[in-house]
Amino acid sequence: MKHILLFGPPGAGKGTQAQLLVDKYKFIHLSTGDMLRDEIKRSTEIGLKAKKIIDSGQLVPDEVVAEMVRLRIKNMKDNTGIIFDGFPRTVAQACKLDEIMNDEKQEIAMMIAIDVHDEEIIKRILERGKISQRSDDRDINTIKNRIDTYNQQTAILADYYKQQKKFKSVDGIGSIEDIFQKICKLIEEA
Ligand code: ADP
Repeated sequence: MKHILLFGPPGAGKGTQAQLLVDKYKFIHLSTGDMLRDEIKRSTEIGLKAKKIIDSGQLVPDEVVAEMVRLRIKNMKDNTGIIFDGFPRTVAQACKLDEIMNDEKQEIAMMIAIDVHDEEIIKRILERGKISQRSDDRDINTIKNRIDTYNQQTAILADYYKQQKKFKSVDGIGSIEDIFQKICKLIEEA
């Protein structure tokens, strides 16, 4: 099975596309954002620490997310395709993911970036904030910090996967269905 990294700024539509891919190809959706929100809901030690960080628009420490991901993957059956959504987000996390995949004798097939410019993502996140339970989607400063964090720490990962010849991208402006078709094409061509 192919393991795919969905990549792009906050609000690019990674979660939406991941869900469609799960429905079509039976991938497992691994979203570190969802996992952290679940920790917050259950008021675990990780959740209590993560809440403040998430609401400030910063990243939760690499070791914390990497360990969550490692445990989740370890408990999976072999040969299940995974859609990674929101992980890795730093070069350290990408290195850690390589280690985890190596240990499991698995490999990342490709990174698919969803391209959306800043003005559009701010608009989308504020819209989502009106209906979602996410406090980080309602505050304009938090949203701007998330975009800065993305530009400073995450965007560089495109180069990491380009060097491995695993980088692909799609235009993230357009209908959900059109973007989905473009992503399916990339997955099926690989
Ligand atoms: P979005 O992509 O819309 O920002 P996510 O649900 O992926 O939403 O992430 C929400 C927040 O959770 C991030 O702003 C960050 O604070 C934290 N987070 C999620 N994934 C990671 C990760 N891989 N490393 C560090 N922090 C993370």
